[in-house]
Parts: sequence; structure tokens; C-alpha cells
Amino acid sequence: MPSNIFAKVAPLLKGKNFKVNPAEIEKFLNRYSSGNWIYPSAMSRELQLDIKSAYEILELGVSVKAFEQNLEVYCPHCHRFVGYRYKTIFDIPQEVNCVHCDTCIESALEHAVVIYKVL
Ligand SMILES: [Zn+2]
Repeated sequence: MPSNIFAKVAPLLKGKNFKVNPAEIEKFLNRYSSGNWIYPSAMSRELQLDIKSAYEILELGVSVKAFEQNLEVYCPHCHRFVGYRYKTIFDIPQEVNCVHCDTCIESALEHAVVIYKVL
């Protein structure tokens, strides 16, 4: 089923000067559907867009309820996402165990990254 994510976001892109062709953004967003997770780092890499612009575009999506912000903890040892996601910073425990390398990540909040859930 084709997603309508881009249809929601596209009008907001008008007048913004992102250094990426809207068609490329559309192609990228069309790969996602409801319940999927979008990582700003992946968007930045694939669209060759600076990370700040990737976040700005995703935040535009939040404003039209296409996406919802969540947080995921990034393991500083094995450099992978540990797989637990949180709605708010207050939901993040003090310590998180990395499922990949079994490291106990102390001060997990400091390693939290904002990611986006497709609504
Ligand atoms: Zn790890």
C-alpha cells in the first residue's frame, strides 16, 4: 500500500530551502508505512542531507501528526541501537543493558537519540 506520509509533509516543504529534491524525500518516505521507525541518521545518510535538516523535515511531519517522536538508546560500546524505545525521556531507566554486546550502559539518557514512529 503506498504511504501518504509524503502527501502530509509535502505542503510544509514549500518555501523551505532544504538542500534535497522533494522527489528524493518522497522516494525515501514511501519506503515507510504505519508503525515503522525512521532514524534521522539513516535519512541524513541516504538523502545526503545534513542531520539538522533531516530532523527539521521529520519535525514538520510531527506537526501534521504523520510521525511521533520517540527515543532510543544508542550503545556507546558497540555503536548499535539497543532496541528499547521510549515515549519520553522520563521513561528511560538510569541503566540499560545492551542486547548486542551485553554492556551495561550507565546514564542511558545521555545516549538517547530521537527517532520517529510513522503514525
Ligand atoms: Zn552494545
